[in-house]
Amino acid sequence: MKLTDFALARKKMVEEQLVPRGIKDDRVLRAMRKVPRHLFLEEGLWPQAYGDFPLPIGEGQTISQPYIVALMTEAMELKGDEKALEIGTGSGYQAAILAELAERVFTVERISSLAGKARKILDELGYADVLIKVFDGTHGWKEEAPFDGIIVTAGAPDVPQTLLRQLKVGGRLVIPVGNEYSQILLKVVREDRGYKEDDLGGCRFVKLIGDHGWKT
Ligand code: SAH
Repeated sequence: MKLTDFALARKKMVEEQLVPRGIKDDRVLRAMRKVPRHLFLEEGLWPQAYGDFPLPIGEGQTISQPYIVALMTEAMELKGDEKALEIGTGSGYQAAILAELAERVFTVERISSLAGKARKILDELGYADVLIKVFDGTHGWKEEAPFDGIIVTAGAPDVPQTLLRQLKVGGRLVIPVGNEYSQILLKVVREDRGYKEDDLGGCRFVKLIGDHGWKT
């Protein structure tokens, strides 16, 4: 496949998978059209990189389906001057999308080999200012809190209070919550007093494993 083929595949992905399902934020659509998703995958998977499904990234983990990436990103309501935190770096693809949309991006991954690969490709693509930490992300990133947006790209048994506490007032947490096999995508907004919760629909993620997630 040539470079132009990938650019065309991205354009098609946006027009056929994202727009018809209701993704409206122009900045999100532009980021999805720009970031070369295939480069976050091993070369054998490049021909499938822009398909309407998740794909394996090693260590039993997956990169989410493009629509889910767009839906979660849109829910973070980024305008450009935010501080954003991702839990579950995986391939680094979602972090690159966030880097297109926020001022500063922090991302946490518990598997160091994945974090290493993500670091390499993010550097190569000019996203060197995305900070990656190998850690249990269910603790958030205390030193850098509070955040305007937190996105968790692994499924949790319930909403970790630790992450809610690291949101600014008005900040958004987007997280899949449910059992091992299926989850509901939740958007939680921190208000002056308490939190407002919205259900964005069903999804299926790999497990969020950690002190405030699944134990194994
Ligand atoms: N956002 C990624 C996909 C992530 S898959 C991408 O764009 O490719 C989910 C990732 O969450 C996996 O890499 C998994 O190792 C990681 N993960 C699971 N529990 C975690 C935890 N407690 N802290 C940090 N990362 C975690």
